Amino acid sequence: MTGYIHSVQSLGTVDGPGVRCVVFASGCPYRCIYCHNPDTWELGGGTLTDCDELVERIMRLYPYIKDGGVTLSGGEPCMQAEFFISLTEKLQQKGLHVALDTSGAVTNDSALELASMCDLVLLDVKFTTDEGYKRYTGGSIDGVMKLLMLREEIEKPTYIRQVIVPGINDKEDDIIALRELLSPYKTVEKIELLPFKKLCLEKYESLGIPFPLRDTPEMDRSRLAELEKLLG
Ligand code: SF4
Repeated sequence: MTGYIHSVQSLGTVDGPGVRCVVFASGCPYRCIYCHNPDTWELGGGTLTDCDELVERIMRLYPYIKDGGVTLSGGEPCMQAEFFISLTEKLQQKGLHVALDTSGAVTNDSALELASMCDLVLLDVKFTTDEGYKRYTGGSIDGVMKLLMLREEIEKPTYIRQVIVPGINDKEDDIIALRELLSPYKTVEKIELLPFKKLCLEKYESLGIPFPLRDTPEMDRSRLAELEKLLG
């Protein structure tokens, strides 16, 4: 089986617990206003990769990642859910912990199967309202809600992440709304607020795509720390 892969980061430390190999899928149906990976948007923009060869490549890192694991990221891995189901099965058979980093943009049967089998889901809850999703991602809130409910039903852990952008979702009420949206879900073990950054500017320029938040300031870290306190 083959899938389109944008890149593989050998030893990552920010996408799930421990030291992890991060596999970035190509293809994403969303167009988030602050996306820092516009180079992953097109499915065919990645390299067609054989699943067994990818497993072999990952297993060369085994001594470093055996206590961490592998994170499937992107782009949106659920766009190629069947490929990632096969990869996850093979990695789990070898004793590796597999995390799925997803925005909930795709929730067909295969995507839900992938989200069920992964040991951890890193769920990007981008906004707390459907209006926010429609305006800033081009998608809808239904996908993340489906994944939250799924992980709750099967009692498997979920970490939430949200990028905080000045002037868009950085008000105290926005964070309180996030806390309230997530409060019914016992399987949510962690909520992380990530600061909006503009390191992606060069990527947009080289792709010839206008960056909608060019004039928005980066998120202030001390303000972010204040907002984090509201999560309790
Ligand atoms: S879901 Fe992620 S990869 Fe897709 S557009 Fe949004 S930020 Fe970019």
